[in-house]
Amino acid sequence: MLKKYNYKDLGSEQIRLLVTRNADNANEIGARVESIIERVKSEGDKALFSYSEQFDKVSLNKLFIEFDEIEKLASKIDESEQKALEKAYYNIHKFHLAQISEEAKVETTPGVTCWRETRAIEKVGLYVPGGSAVLPSTFLMLGIPAKIAGCKEIVVCSPPQKNGSINGYIAYCALMLGIKRIYLIGGAQAVAAMALGTESIPKVDKIFGPGNQYVTKAKTIIQSTTDTAIDMPAGPSEVLVIADETTNPAFIAADLLAQAEHGTDSQAILVSTSNKIVEETIIELEKQLTLLPRAEIAAKAIANSYAIITENVDEAMQFSNEYAPEHLIIQTKDWEQLVKKITNAGSVFLGEYTPESAGDYASGTNHTLPTSGFARSYSGVSLESFLKKITFQHISKAGIKNLGPTVETLAELEGLKAHANAVAIRMRD
Ligand code: NAD
Repeated sequence: MLKKYNYKDLGSEQIRLLVTRNADNANEIGARVESIIERVKSEGDKALFSYSEQFDKVSLNKLFIEFDEIEKLASKIDESEQKALEKAYYNIHKFHLAQISEEAKVETTPGVTCWRETRAIEKVGLYVPGGSAVLPSTFLMLGIPAKIAGCKEIVVCSPPQKNGSINGYIAYCALMLGIKRIYLIGGAQAVAAMALGTESIPKVDKIFGPGNQYVTKAKTIIQSTTDTAIDMPAGPSEVLVIADETTNPAFIAADLLAQAEHGTDSQAILVSTSNKIVEETIIELEKQLTLLPRAEIAAKAIANSYAIITENVDEAMQFSNEYAPEHLIIQTKDWEQLVKKITNAGSVFLGEYTPESAGDYASGTNHTLPTSGFARSYSGVSLESFLKKITFQHISKAGIKNLGPTVETLAELEGLKAHANAVAIRMRD
């Protein structure tokens, strides 16, 4: 069960070890992923067929399914499921649509006007996980902002299911998003295919989406070895719950297990000012765990997790900021006062009645979030992730007279005479 630590007993090295996750110290994942990328590069589609057999245990005839089949699969899901997916679509769309913004033009010097304009990234690749659980919710989280941004080409990869196809929920999302083809490829090979291009898979400019350690490692490698960008490292899921003595331990246990059932490498951390709450949460965890269909997975993840007891909520927040969780849940009576003190977190859930599951599926915020401490430097997926901002400027004849001498002086002091000349020739005109 959950290991327990007292914050005051922890030295800096112990804290460093506690906040480190999925370290891959022996480079086992890294080496495997590098060889997968190399093989996709040299063999293209042939490597993809072979990896589907090896990792997904499916022998595919073709690497994608198209509109007719997508429509057929989507029609098989029942009405209440369709309605739930539509409600999630509506809320996610509403939240992301509100992220459209326009910036004003700025006259920095009389006659010198600067501004930025937004353009969609043209070709994007979406990875929809489908290993241990198929995640249609991720398809919505990635597809909706891509559509709002106006990306011209949206390539979607998801691992094939045992029948060599996708499931009806993914198909229904494709219909809602107007996506007519889905590539049946998972893992590091899907990321490599979208970054490098193969006979069947188009090369894209940026790859989005969460995944297991293989997917995440492949994204970080292709980011530095190809000209394809990535959204962020979004690996095995994690949650950190801050709780005081006023919270309901059954709620906390439910939130920790919701995270733990994702995979054995997920982490669920409890930081509490109350030893009693920690003890009661541990009892609740045992009770609730036995009722879960994915109890075995969740139990392993909980065994890799821990609870920390702190003197006060400020100390709890200090640890949370060091951990930089993908999901942060604050269940304390004064959660409003803690909001300003959060410096590192992917997405935050405030108050007793705000389970992380709401954000995972349907409240509207994006669930594709930085893990493994990357919340220190990355944001989660948003509309902006699918956009570029291009800067523009226009300088009038009066403007170059006003700004020219400054530019000339700076060009001269850097020893770049041609730069100075490009201004001087206009000032003489
Ligand atoms: P996945 O689609 O990420 O991975 C499945 C693929 O992994 C398979 O198709 C296979 O190609 C590859 N694979 C499996 N075993 C392999 C091996 N031994 N060697 C090489 N490749 C192998 O699905 P998943 O495994 O269920 O993982 C989904 C992950 O996404 C979970 O860890 C979950 O926590 C995470 N997640 C993260 C976020 C986020 O925003 N950070 C959101 C949702 C889910």
